[in-house]
Amino acid sequence: MNQITLNDGNTIPQLGFGTFRLEAAEAEAAVNEALEAGYRHIDTASIYGNEREVGRAIASSGIPRDELFVTTKLWDDKHTQAHQALEESLDKLGLDHVDLYLIHWPNPPANTFLTAWEGLIELREEKLTRSIGVSNFLPEHLSRIIDATSVAPAVDQVELHPQFQPTDVLDYAAEHSIAIEAWGPLGQGKYPLFDAAPVTAAARAHEVTPAQVVLRWHLQRNRIIFPKSRKPSRIRENFDVFGFELTEQELAAIDAMNKGEEGRVSSHPNKRVSH
Ligand code: NAD
Repeated sequence: MNQITLNDGNTIPQLGFGTFRLEAAEAEAAVNEALEAGYRHIDTASIYGNEREVGRAIASSGIPRDELFVTTKLWDDKHTQAHQALEESLDKLGLDHVDLYLIHWPNPPANTFLTAWEGLIELREEKLTRSIGVSNFLPEHLSRIIDATSVAPAVDQVELHPQFQPTDVLDYAAEHSIAIEAWGPLGQGKYPLFDAAPVTAAARAHEVTPAQVVLRWHLQRNRIIFPKSRKPSRIRENFDVFGFELTEQELAAIDAMNKGEEGRVSSHPNKRVSH
């Protein structure tokens, strides 16, 4: 498994398993399946409501804790109570620390994300999380927390797939050594992504599936990904992406699928209303 070294010196498996919209027994079964298939990096969040099930799957796997990388996230309504929120998440997960704790959204109207970031810095000092980062932060949010604290997040987890490649965020992150985690790496299945010519041509050439081509594109572009599926066959398919390599022309053809804002499948971080 490829590992990416973060700006704090910690490493993260480049390919993990996402758990958004996996609930209750379904979440536990899917994480069990993922761990059996070889995934060692799990991405969850307090708002997903499945930390307890993720924790149960981790416990029953018997995999040593130091071989696993677990991420969870601070929800909007807890920006000023990060300590309490992480303790609650750890309790549900059955862990004494996570590997990565993220501010889930900047939620700019509340004007609390800087307080949240200061809280995460303390949580890292207390070793309740090994690394800290953010999610859905635009350059204006990143510069605000970096200017105020001189601590750059280890990652920014943002929507990113062939039809939506936010170049402003990618450029800012590269300049500040912030690793990019691509959420919705398969476009959440909302676009005809798998029928696009650059994807189908590469799939034919390498005798792999369109989903595997898109995941491989992310990996070769140095992004951290954690595709989600509830189907055992797809969970395994999405992990089987290390046996082929896309050419530079194939990568460039997929880069060219970017539609800018029009390609976004979820909300713009500044327009999103917290629920
Ligand atoms: P995704 O791009 O991983 O798409 C998942 C969907 O793609 C599946 O439900 C299925 O319909 C389809 N799919 C999966 N594997 C397939 C395959 N092999 N072939 C064909 N179709 C396939 O979307 P996601 O789950 O939203 O994103 C991945 C993870 O990112 C989430 O599970 C979550 O952990 C994280 N995430 C974070 C945020 C955030 O705000 N930070 C938001 C959304 C998701």
